[in-house]
Amino acid sequence: MALQETTSPKVKRHRIAVGRFAHESNGFNPLVTTENFLLIQRGGELMERASGSTLAGFVQALRDIDAEILPTLSISGAAGGFIAHDTFVKLLSEFLDRVEASKPDAILLELHGAMATTETPDADGWVLSALRERVGPNVPIAVGLDLHAHVTNKMLENSTICIACKENPHSDVIECGLKATRMLVDVLEGRLAPVTTAVRIPMVIPGAGETDAGPLFDIHETARRFATEHQSIEDISIYNVFRCVDDDDMGQVVTLITNGADPSVKQVARTLGAKFWDNRDAFRDNLLTVKEAFALIENGDDQKPYLLADMGDRIGAGAPGDSVVLLSEALDHHPTLSGVLTITDEKNAVRAYEVGTGAEVTLDVGGHITPGFMSRRIAGRVVHISEGEYTLAGPLCGGEIWDMGKTAVILVDDRILVILTSKPTADHDPAVVSSQGIDMSKLDFVVVKSGYHFTLNYRGLGTPVFVETPGVGYYRKGTLPYAKGRFWPEHPIELCELTATTFGVAEARPKTNINKHHGELE
Ligand SMILES: [Zn+2]
Repeated sequence: MALQETTSPKVKRHRIAVGRFAHESNGFNPLVTTENFLLIQRGGELMERASGSTLAGFVQALRDIDAEILPTLSISGAAGGFIAHDTFVKLLSEFLDRVEASKPDAILLELHGAMATTETPDADGWVLSALRERVGPNVPIAVGLDLHAHVTNKMLENSTICIACKENPHSDVIECGLKATRMLVDVLEGRLAPVTTAVRIPMVIPGAGETDAGPLFDIHETARRFATEHQSIEDISIYNVFRCVDDDDMGQVVTLITNGADPSVKQVARTLGAKFWDNRDAFRDNLLTVKEAFALIENGDDQKPYLLADMGDRIGAGAPGDSVVLLSEALDHHPTLSGVLTITDEKNAVRAYEVGTGAEVTLDVGGHITPGFMSRRIAGRVVHISEGEYTLAGPLCGGEIWDMGKTAVILVDDRILVILTSKPTADHDPAVVSSQGIDMSKLDFVVVKSGYHFTLNYRGLGTPVFVETPGVGYYRKGTLPYAKGRFWPEHPIELCELTATTFGVAEARPKTNINKHHGELE
C-alpha cells in the first residue's frame, strides 16, 4: 500500500549571510591600519547597533521579509592608511569561515570599495574572489558600496550584484542596503538575472563632489532619466573613485545592471561616461584659504560656530588628522576667537591623559605622521581625559560606538580646546566634541576633518566652511606621489575612447510574483 502524503508543503525562508568589510585606505598616509584601529563586530553583535549604514539597510530589508539573517563579521572604522596585510588576511579568513559555516542561500556584503592593504591596492577584489571561491558559483553575492569605490573588474567578476549609494554626502546608505537586498531576493526567487555593463573613464574629479548640485547632479539626473526609459535597467551606479587610491585603472566608473543581457545599454553607459569627460573642467571646488576662512569667522554674522572643514587633513578621506595649520592660525593671529579641534597624536594624548585633569602641560603636538608636517608647541591645562569611546549621533553611522583611544583635552589661552586623540576618529560627527564635555554652541569655530559628511551629522549646529589646507586627504594636481595610477588631470591623457564591458551573461527573467518575497517551496 502506498503511503499517502500527509504533510503540507513548508515555505522555505531565505537564509542570507550578512557582513561588512568596509575600509577606505589612503595610499599616502604612512600610518598603517592595524586591528587596533578597526571596529570589529562578530555574529549577532553586528546587528545590535546596525544603523545609518548599508549593513543596517540589509538587516531592515531582511527583517521585513522574515528572512533568516546569518550575521558573520563586520569590519569598519575611520578611513586611514593601508591595512596591515597580515591583519587583513586574518580577518578575511575569519569572515570566510563564518560565511561557510552559516551555509547561506545568498550573501549580502557591505564594502567601501576603496580598501587596500600593504600588499594589494584591490583588497575588495581580493575579498570577493576569495568569497566566490569559498562558496562556489551558485550562491548569489550582492554588494552595497560607497560611491567613492575604486571598482575593479575583479570585484565585478566575483559578485552577482554591485551597487552604490547615490548621494554625496551619503544620506542614502540605508536605501542602498534595502535595494541590494531587494535585488538579491529577486535573484533568489527567479525574477532577476543580473548582467552588469561597466564603463571606466580615466579621470578623477578634482572637486565638485557633491551630488545635489553641479556636474554630478546633471549626470545623476541623466542616469535617472535613462533608468526610466529603459525597461531592462535595474540600477545605475556612478562611482567617483577615491582619489587617494594609487592603482592601475583608477577612474570614474558607471555600472548598469540589467535584467538579462541588453546590448542597447552599452550606449547608455558610454553616454554617461562621456558626460564626465566632456565636463571634466567643471569639477572644481571653491575652497577658502586659511586667511579667508578666519576673516569670515571674525566678521561674518552666520550661525556660530563656523565648522571649518580641514580639507587636506580629512580623516574622512584617510588622512592622519595630525595637522596644526588651523590651530596655529587661531593661536597666532586671532587672539579673541574660541574654538575646538582634534589632533591625532598618541604620544601626547597618553602623556596628558596620564598627568590628568588640572595639570599644566607644554607639548609639541601634531605633525608626527603626515610627511612634511611640523608639530606645534602648546602650553595649557588638561581639562578632560577619557578612554575616547563615544556613540555617533548620526545620521551617518548614528548609534555606532567608535573609539579614539586615550584622549585628553588641553585648554590653551583659555579659548582654544585641543582634543588630542590616540587614534584618528570619525570627525564628521559632533559626538567627538560633545563626548569630551565640550559645549560647542559657545565657540566661534569647530574644526572638522571631514569634507562632506559632517554637513549631515552637524546639520543645524553651525555654518560649514571649506578650507584649502595641506595634507594627503585632498587631491591637488602634482602633490601626491602616484606610482601606478594614470588619470586626468594628473597625467596628460588625450584620448578618451570609452569601452563598455559586460559581466555575467543571462537571459532576462519574467518580473512576476512580485509580492511573494519568501515563497519558495521546499
Ligand atoms: Zn564616500
